[in-house]
Amino acid sequence: MPSQLTRLDDATVANIAAGEVISRPARVVGELVDNALDAGASRIDIAVDGDGTDRIRVEDDGHGLSRGDAKLAVQRHTTSKLPADAGASLTDVSTLGFRGEALAAICDCATVEIVTNDGDAVGTKLRVGNGEPTVADAARGQGTTVTVTDLFADRPARRASLADPAAEFSRISDLVADYALAQPDVAFSLSHDGTKTFSTPGGGLRDALLGVYDADVARNATVVEHGTALDTEGGTGSLDLRGILTYPSVTRSTRDHIRISVAGRPVSDSGLRQAVVDGYGSLLPGDQYPIAAVDIEPPTETVDPNVHPAKQRVGLRYRDDIEIVVEETISEALSTADARRAEAAATDLTTELDGVDRRDPFADLRVIGSFRDLYLLCEDDDELLVIDQHAAHERVNYERLQAAVGDDAVPTVPLEPPESVSVSPPAASLAAAHADLLASLGFDVEPFGGGTLRVSAVPAPLGRVADANALRTTLDGLAAGETPADPRDALLAEVACHPSLKAGERLSTDEAEQLLARLGECEQPFACPHGRPTICSIDEATLAAGFDRESTRFE
Ligand code: ADP
Ligand code: MG
Repeated sequence: MPSQLTRLDDATVANIAAGEVISRPARVVGELVDNALDAGASRIDIAVDGDGTDRIRVEDDGHGLSRGDAKLAVQRHTTSKLPADAGASLTDVSTLGFRGEALAAICDCATVEIVTNDGDAVGTKLRVGNGEPTVADAARGQGTTVTVTDLFADRPARRASLADPAAEFSRISDLVADYALAQPDVAFSLSHDGTKTFSTPGGGLRDALLGVYDADVARNATVVEHGTALDTEGGTGSLDLRGILTYPSVTRSTRDHIRISVAGRPVSDSGLRQAVVDGYGSLLPGDQYPIAAVDIEPPTETVDPNVHPAKQRVGLRYRDDIEIVVEETISEALSTADARRAEAAATDLTTELDGVDRRDPFADLRVIGSFRDLYLLCEDDDELLVIDQHAAHERVNYERLQAAVGDDAVPTVPLEPPESVSVSPPAASLAAAHADLLASLGFDVEPFGGGTLRVSAVPAPLGRVADANALRTTLDGLAAGETPADPRDALLAEVACHPSLKAGERLSTDEAEQLLARLGECEQPFACPHGRPTICSIDEATLAAGFDRESTRFE
């Protein structure tokens, strides 16, 4: 019987291979951005029409291509990133591309125009579509612009398999956001149908987060940079971690905003994502996930970039160790973030308190300025009111906590591992005697000998996780108080203090007005929970006297 098998010709093989690399418009964007980054670009502008099959254009200011290299670049298996005899080992690759197939694959399923200049007087325009490629002179500064049109025009099945345009564009947008955060020193912009959707300035992680999300997210995030020694077969290598993490008060309901990259290459890696979530531990409210971008850079020889057709995953030789380092680094960064956690809740001035039914005492105030970013200056008829923004915000938070917790047991979260808190011996015996009361306040405390207490759970009213050290304040309240309300109030006052505005935080006029409105809703607006005043008033007569004026009116 004659053989049933045929050997495919080169054109068919190329078509099949192109299908693997370029499965959807977002893959075109990914490959073109990889090339721009490999060319050393410092800015990359991406424009997409419709679902991306209409047009994708990626423009970079990288080193560009000579005319000869441009013609070679669109052929299969041509690359400037590996020596011809690289052989089986691809683990030393430090570029994002290395297979030399992306441009060729895109040319197989679309019309491609490349305008490029490597620094010559005149650049090159190369067009690859149906028929022979055409080459012409082009005016362009150094860099490369690749425009891909009519993607999948002759592949109806591939086209039909795409989602609706909004969904395809959102994949692209998500991917560009991945790159912008994995490469925060490169400026990115993305436009859709002629409208800019976002841009980043190439000024580091916080600016990138601001570009991809918003000012609130960027403000409520902390940057981590950490190097760890990693024991490898070849000796000791280093594992560098760089990332930005939102505080637990800023969360999303999916893991999609936890972005992982390996040496600047965005990857989809559920193990490392989980390590980030584990690093947050009990700080995250149930079913909520942070916004985070974490880049890890293990020794290059321990990373295999060639395990996935679209390079969306990489092989990590010391994966288990790396996951542990990621978890520990993140946990450490967040646990030392008491002050930063404070910052995280500080902007919430817009949520109204359950109102006290009376006239707002500050209804007629006008904010006129601030002094040393701590005192708000307000005009109230003939008085100058000076408001301590920290004390005022503490009062607001305290009354919120009281309203939320009431006399019920305070919500609690476990501390893993438990923490030791050292207190005076009398306070330790007080804790033992009042274990039930402490439990109702959210503390799980056991004596641990001497003046040491083991704290295995802490209060977390309104999602504000108390510090194990808040136990000391609570015990002080217990020592001083006669009624059970005292330690409870002491605890709430302590917890209220943490997420309050700090001295040195400048408020916009809107924020200042919101703070005053919230303070006006408090039952006791004139003192902070620790009993210090929130407001000082200076009347006009006092000022007039200070300036040796006879009268407060102009003469
Ligand atoms: P690879 O990136 O794997 O090398 P590609 O097919 O993506 O393969 O690109 C082929 C070659 O074309 C690259 O090796 C590079 O030399 C060149 N090239 C592609 N895009 C650019 C660009 N934007 N700027 C400069 N050179 C480029
Ligand atoms: Mg490439």
